[in-house]
Amino acid sequence: MFLFKNLFSKPLSVQLTVTSNNGFHLRPVAQFASLAKSFSCQITATFNNKSVDSKSVNTLLSLSLEKGDTFTLVVQGRKADEALEALQRLFITLMQNDKEIKQIDKTTYSYEGSVIEGEIISEGIAIAPAYTYHTTEVQHQSEMDFNAALSKSIEELETLYHDKEKDENASIYLAQKELLISLGTHCHTLSELEEKVEEESRNLAGTKLDAKISDYQDILQRVKKHLGLEIQVSFPDKPFILLCKDLLPSEIDQLQQTNVGGVILKETSIHSHTAILLRAAGICSLIADTQDYAEGESVILDAQAGVIVQAPSAHDLQKAREQLEQANVQKALSATKRFEAAITQKGRPIKVFANVADLSTAKAAKEEGAEGIGLLRSEFLFKEVKPSLETQQKAYKEIFELFVDITVRTLDVGGDKALPYIHLPAENNPFLGVRGVRLFRIHPEILEEQLHAIFLAAGDKPIKIMFPMISSVEEFMQTKSFAQHVARKYQLDISHLQFGMMIEVPSVLFLLESLNDVVDFYSIGTNDLTQYLFAIERTHPLLKADELSPALFSAIELILDTATKPVSICGELAANKHAIPKLLNLGMETLSVSPKSIAQTKEEIRDV
Ligand code: PEP
Ligand code: MG
Repeated sequence: MFLFKNLFSKPLSVQLTVTSNNGFHLRPVAQFASLAKSFSCQITATFNNKSVDSKSVNTLLSLSLEKGDTFTLVVQGRKADEALEALQRLFITLMQNDKEIKQIDKTTYSYEGSVIEGEIISEGIAIAPAYTYHTTEVQHQSEMDFNAALSKSIEELETLYHDKEKDENASIYLAQKELLISLGTHCHTLSELEEKVEEESRNLAGTKLDAKISDYQDILQRVKKHLGLEIQVSFPDKPFILLCKDLLPSEIDQLQQTNVGGVILKETSIHSHTAILLRAAGICSLIADTQDYAEGESVILDAQAGVIVQAPSAHDLQKAREQLEQANVQKALSATKRFEAAITQKGRPIKVFANVADLSTAKAAKEEGAEGIGLLRSEFLFKEVKPSLETQQKAYKEIFELFVDITVRTLDVGGDKALPYIHLPAENNPFLGVRGVRLFRIHPEILEEQLHAIFLAAGDKPIKIMFPMISSVEEFMQTKSFAQHVARKYQLDISHLQFGMMIEVPSVLFLLESLNDVVDFYSIGTNDLTQYLFAIERTHPLLKADELSPALFSAIELILDTATKPVSICGELAANKHAIPKLLNLGMETLSVSPKSIAQTKEEIRDV
């Protein structure tokens, strides 16, 4: 009966628009397909009259969806509604979180030697002999047959993905795993897989996904490795600049263990996974169509100006060495200065805190010189499965131990942020619907468990607890009373904890006088405040609100003038170099920014 009902259930559909400048590329596609596979219903994507199975990375990629393209997702069968909702939310989140990879601006140069221009992957300067990459293949006996090698490779990629789960590049391994599953499933021998990879590589050549060919080669190499193929590479003991056609993403780890000073690749793009990993490893690198050099010939790789200098003159070498030294001194200086206080020219100390999402970003923030955590976005702590009370408590405790001053925000799901284990109703305007603290109206048990875990993890520490999306005094009071009720229920003393709110819904701009009586602190969330002030969705593919608009600064001025409780700012605006002087002049004393922006934000403050 049940099966009968599902077989004949009506298909459900939704239109999804690609909003990321990078298009719907391999990594988000892999995450999407991976979630689609967890449902047994049929899930297809249709674009330009072509319909494909959404559970296969390869077929989904074949739609070549670019920014602005709208495709239809059709779901039919068991739990179709759940699947549709979860996939829609994940898609929006993937689009929102997909950072655009921008071309790096080049500095000017003047070298006497002959110069080849290229495109910068990762900035820096290196002076060393060029070393042309070559490998030797040795075939050993292997106990494994093709199927075992395929399963082992999939398992390895799964482990790499989970090992590096907190690393922002971990999704590269998920992408490769999904790719291998979708290509390998119908292959029975290595030569079939080789043919498939060749065919796919040919199809990708010259398209926007060209740079992903190295991922196809990488997964093939992984399977071959388990079939006994050993790739032997040797690198010089002295510093060198590696020159090669392309590298496989999996080779970057190995390269990091060598004396490599820089890398010149002939065939890749700044969007490739190899490029992403080179940037993450901080290896100065360039894409340039250059000749092979005589082994041992010194070259200058100036990945600031975006050039290679062949046969550099003594003068070129001296200049490059000076630049290198200067860069090293600058790096060392800002590295030490990042732990120093940020004091304005007039002697006003400004606190620079960090926005973090988990233990690894909190540790990174500490390393970068953060003085506290101004925003712990707790919704990113557990992205896949619902955590138990104990897991949550442990995670919060580890983060709380890192700093004295910590603000943790209760779950802010809804809008553009989805969690697969929290089911929210389908809404026409999710950004105006069940978001942030409103979740507690339909899922009080989730907020209860989270607050319980935070209280336990806080112990005696005066942690600050912040509620997102507060839009009225009553809403704040109800949520705080709920927190007090949770504390009473579990017999916990929370008198030392502070309760504050995000200012991100415009209605509260006019309620500050009453809110002053009930809140302990405020934090301005300009990302949402801007979208709600201008009625422009923050993920909108075409419209973008002016983040430096006087309207926004008037709102901030109003807040700083009216609030009688401490105010900080944790939206992106806090790290904007054009905004920092204005924010400080309005009286802002605490800025909370992403870990990577801390040193820079402190420098900007010192100039005001
Ligand atoms: C904000 O809205 O400015 C903010 C910091 O919160 P989030 O970006 O997590 O919504
Ligand atoms: Mg917000």
